[in-house]
Amino acid sequence: MFSYRHGFHAGNHADVLKHMVVVQLLEHLLQKDKPFWVVDTHAGGGLYDLTSGYATKSGESLEGIHALWPLRAKASTPTIVKSYLDQVQAVNDKDTLHWYPGSPQIAAQMMREGDHLRLFELHPSEIKLLEGHFASVRRGVSIQQADGFLGLKGCLPPPPRRGLVHIDPPYEIKDDYRRVLQTLRESVQRFATGTYAIWYPEVARRESQQFPGQLKRLAAEMPKVDWLHATLRVKGAARDGMGLFGSGMFIINPPWTLYDRLAEALPWLVETIGIDEHAAYTLEAQQS
Ligand code: SAM
Repeated sequence: MFSYRHGFHAGNHADVLKHMVVVQLLEHLLQKDKPFWVVDTHAGGGLYDLTSGYATKSGESLEGIHALWPLRAKASTPTIVKSYLDQVQAVNDKDTLHWYPGSPQIAAQMMREGDHLRLFELHPSEIKLLEGHFASVRRGVSIQQADGFLGLKGCLPPPPRRGLVHIDPPYEIKDDYRRVLQTLRESVQRFATGTYAIWYPEVARRESQQFPGQLKRLAAEMPKVDWLHATLRVKGAARDGMGLFGSGMFIINPPWTLYDRLAEALPWLVETIGIDEHAAYTLEAQQS
């Protein structure tokens, strides 16, 4: 369980999809002059160095943020990709891409006074990084070294009754798939109007292939729940069955604008960071 370190994967194609959507969900919450909470059940380290250590060893960001970075000022770059790149720009000096913001950093830099960020992380090294990173930015941010699935229960419903729950486990253990479904079921019962963003990997594993269907069936069982499901695949599955070839975001109660924005951005992303002829996207949504 403790083998996963997000630093290896920071800024890869899966982070691009995930964080582009998270930025949109936050922008939507920011449209109203009312406070909200963000709960990040699996926070990671918060901010990642792309120029040394894990990131340079894996090179995964080359197929993600590094490929998009030079396109941030191009007129043809879709609006929501630009909004995401603006958040990456916020932790970097001018043109040099040195740092990559994880979801806690993105939320923290977009939040206003009065909004609140609750972070859960279990890994002893990641929690140290996270606490160190936010040491000087304590207002509105609380960090717990705890199981995020369990910790989430105590956060719902958030006092302002507005919020985003981001559930982003490593899925290295198959139990994560089951726990996401169980947590989602219980959480929507407690906080039905919240927005929930679930990330999952596309890998050659039965649990990963069955997961989107299970999420949709779960959403169908819940009264008055809208959902949106987007996937971005950059390459075909490797022959040895190893590796991440794509990922998906499943959103419960998405903003109504998200579908059209993704419909513009996803084909562009396939074109721009797709690696082989298997690169593709899917986009579907259901209103209750
Ligand atoms: N959400 C982060 C982002 O977008 O920048 C990345 C999170 S990373 C995919 C998953 C993290 O979950 C890892 O740092 C791992 O240590 C942590 N983790 C694993 N199991 C956990 C659990 N049950 N509760 C909280 N954190 C957990």
